[in-house]
Amino acid sequence: MKPEHAFEYLQHAHAAGRLAQAYIVVGNPKTVGGDFATRLMQLVFCATPGAACGACVPCRQIAQRTHADSLWIEPQKKSRQIVIEQVRDLQHRVQQTAFAGGWKACVIGGADRLNAAASNAFLKTLEEPAGNSLFMLLTDTPQSLLPTILSRCQLFVLDDEAATATEWDRALLAILIEGRTLDALGSPMFASMALAERILGLLEAMREEAEKAVSAQADAEAVDQDDETLDARASSLYREWRTGVMRTLLLWFRDRLILASSGDTAHLRFPEHAAILQAQATGLTRVEALRQVRLVEDMHQNLERNLPERLVIGSGFPRLVAV
Ligand SMILES: [Zn+2]
Repeated sequence: MKPEHAFEYLQHAHAAGRLAQAYIVVGNPKTVGGDFATRLMQLVFCATPGAACGACVPCRQIAQRTHADSLWIEPQKKSRQIVIEQVRDLQHRVQQTAFAGGWKACVIGGADRLNAAASNAFLKTLEEPAGNSLFMLLTDTPQSLLPTILSRCQLFVLDDEAATATEWDRALLAILIEGRTLDALGSPMFASMALAERILGLLEAMREEAEKAVSAQADAEAVDQDDETLDARASSLYREWRTGVMRTLLLWFRDRLILASSGDTAHLRFPEHAAILQAQATGLTRVEALRQVRLVEDMHQNLERNLPERLVIGSGFPRLVAV
């Protein structure tokens, strides 16, 4: 669903006094999902009710995450989990009288990172709603939330505008499709190592292409730039492409999780590859599919932390095979 359409729907619901207590927003929590949560909160807190103008004091406070009647929690840096203390903060915020006399709103960014204790505590909050409270759970993988939480929230699956496929994303998909099931070659470990090598090869090609693109652009601009500047630009372009490719990899494994959980193809990111995804998800349990999604996410994070690619990819892919 396009974010504008989802937002219009919620504007009508708000005007009619029929906002749900809790929404799950499926989309990258750092981009499209986070933006959507911000706008939804602006809708309820805007000085001109329902306008979400973005310019008034409450709207700006929401954007800066300083609004006194709202709270935004995210996975802790080290453990990358949302822990029960954070959910207690949220409960406390919801129970307080609203400063502005109206809504209290909480966003859980990366809600799939709620650990077991935190999930159960949050479920209690949903079961005993306080008046005028609004919860938004942002996630890429709604299937990893407790089913009892899922069933109490309204779900919006947002199109990711930023995720329009680049040629690199298509190259990655070709590798994943050709790789078929990880264990198609008889030895799952061998197949996963072969897959890792192909992805490392793709990254290598991307790096070279980024260098070429940057020097071609410097030639076109006809300005002399020192090697250091060119290297920095090539490296930043390469990282941008790599982030996109790793996200595509994550979405591919998320689709496998969707199929392993529900078999429902309505929310697939790659519906055009449903048959291949279905074949890969055959016999895959939800728990195992979720473990694989987390592993891909870990690989992505480790690359962003500048760990060596060969180490991250070369050791990550074999771990995708069932332990
Ligand atoms: Zn406003």
